[in-house]
Amino acid sequence: MAKVLILAEQRDGKLKKTSFELIQFCAKSGHETHVALLGDGVAGLANELGAQGAKVVHLAEAPELAMYTAEAYCKVLVELAKSLSPGFFFAAHTPTGREAMALVAQELEAGYASDCTSLQFQGDNLTARRPLYAGKAIAEVEFLGTGTRVLTVRANALGASAATAQTPQVQKLSVNLAGLKTKGLSVVKGATARPDVTEAAIVISGGRSLKSADGFKILEELADTVGAAVGASRAAVDAGFRPHRDQVGQTGKVVSPSLYIACGISGAIQHLAGMRTSKCIVAINTDPEAPIFQVADYGVVADLFQLVPALTQEFKKLKEH
Ligand SMILES: Cc1cc2nc3c(=O)[nH]c(=O)nc-3n(C[C@H](O)[C@H](O)[C@H](O)COP(=O)(O)OP(=O)(O)OC[C@H]3O[C@@H](n4cnc5c(N)ncnc54)[C@H](O)[C@@H]3O)c2cc1C
Repeated sequence: MAKVLILAEQRDGKLKKTSFELIQFCAKSGHETHVALLGDGVAGLANELGAQGAKVVHLAEAPELAMYTAEAYCKVLVELAKSLSPGFFFAAHTPTGREAMALVAQELEAGYASDCTSLQFQGDNLTARRPLYAGKAIAEVEFLGTGTRVLTVRANALGASAATAQTPQVQKLSVNLAGLKTKGLSVVKGATARPDVTEAAIVISGGRSLKSADGFKILEELADTVGAAVGASRAAVDAGFRPHRDQVGQTGKVVSPSLYIACGISGAIQHLAGMRTSKCIVAINTDPEAPIFQVADYGVVADLFQLVPALTQEFKKLKEH
């Protein structure tokens, strides 16, 4: 079985769930699972990675890695990949993963498959599936030749479950980051404590029909009741009802939660591109002909301003019991 390397993403010393899924999947399929952990003062996270199935954690710590920058991450990851020569190098298809891994693949002159939604190992090779044309077609791809192959995988796509916990071997990398041309100064954070749409198991999204930023409060209340993230269509974002970080779709984020509830969203192809691989899709729309119903597992023809608060009340009652 090939050695695999996985980029573990962390922010502010907290690991991202999207990395756990990849570690579990690779460990369970019997691969020697190596994990790259980059940051400053993050050594304490190695055991958490072991608990997911990581065999070896390659730890790179430096002040320059405290915040993600493509240049510094790429430098460390390329050096590690060259010395380790893994058969596969994976990252989650997050903004960090897709930027860093494209650069890594280019530096390694390796084949690159991004935004994969399924992986099937065949000995030392694998077949991956990835959506094309905003999700209208699915391509099945495999790699030619030998050497490291680089992939990013959509969050929640693998449906992996816990692998056998390990006490990981921690290997410290000596990193030479002299001569970097970029430096991260600070991150301006949003004020929300809700999960990000790409990581949440439940996403509740709203469209133009919410009419205002205030209109989204009914979605927020439902989201807080069930522990969901709040997403939005581009029309809602363009109208200023939500920040761009909440946008789901071709020019927003791609999500694959267990449950996606689309409230007053018509289902334009560009929106579907960001959510059609969700495990279960519920659509609430007053128009029975809305295209969203074509991809929905459950459709409700109803006014969201009546249905959403009623749903929230029902969930609150259920939680009380
Ligand atoms: C290059 C490009 C990229 C794009 N990228 C994205 C993207 O990333 N994400 C994205 O979402 N869009 C994207 N779009 C825009 C996309 O084409 C649609 O315009 C957009 O998704 C529509 O948003 P909407 O469904 O909120 O609004 P609308 O299409 O106006 O739909 C509103 C829906 O709400 C329903 N409704 C109205 N009132 C109620 C009510 N009270 N209760 C229940 N239902 C109600 C209506 O029946 C309707 O179906 C992109 C477009 C282009 C050209």
